[in-house]
Amino acid sequence: MAKMNYGKRKADLERRSVTGPDGEVFEVDPMKNYFCEAPPKVYKPSPLTPLEKFYNWCRAESIYILGFGTGCGAIEMRPLMSPMYDAYRYGVHWRPTPRQSTVFVIGGYASVKTIKRIIRSYEQMPGPKYVLAVCSCTINGGMYWDSYNTINRLDHYIPVDVYVTGCMPRPEALLDSVETLKKRIKEGRAEGQNKYAENFEWYKANQKQIIKDWDMPDYNW
Ligand code: SF4
Repeated sequence: MAKMNYGKRKADLERRSVTGPDGEVFEVDPMKNYFCEAPPKVYKPSPLTPLEKFYNWCRAESIYILGFGTGCGAIEMRPLMSPMYDAYRYGVHWRPTPRQSTVFVIGGYASVKTIKRIIRSYEQMPGPKYVLAVCSCTINGGMYWDSYNTINRLDHYIPVDVYVTGCMPRPEALLDSVETLKKRIKEGRAEGQNKYAENFEWYKANQKQIIKDWDMPDYNW
């Protein structure tokens, strides 16, 4: 078994000066989280030119879903990966990090604690990005509508591109919602990300109203 070089590892974690490719010297702290705190910008595509249509086709046919199950409805994502439903043949893949994902499937109810992680993960996803909200709980709170620690309307906190109703919806419904999302992307109608940028102050105010221990940048990507 290879012996771990702990001395080298410790040195890697120390704060140090680094010279960038353009010769600029800057301080790097490997133990710190780095975020761009600039608010999101509205992406204005050229009105469905052939090139934009091609981009949208590429976006629609390469769906990278973030592997983050937020509620009981997330269970329905597993069968999609199985040979029975085989979502991969529709260009649907799963990724373990928001940095490599384009679609966030919110799989059901979101507690106040979870919505904080949802917001952070959503903002860390690179654009263009889309949200699929699965389950009745994301629409109106479902059976948790009067719970003290779950939110009722997901679209008050992050933008939703497609809803899937049911408690819980079957994998076929989820697969169908992916097809709906693909259709909307191709038609240039999946505009959740722009909605978030346009109404950023409104979303932030809603988010901060329920997340009392707000300890992160207003926007982090
Ligand atoms: S709608 Fe039903 S299955 Fe979905 S998160 Fe709510 S309780 Fe769970």
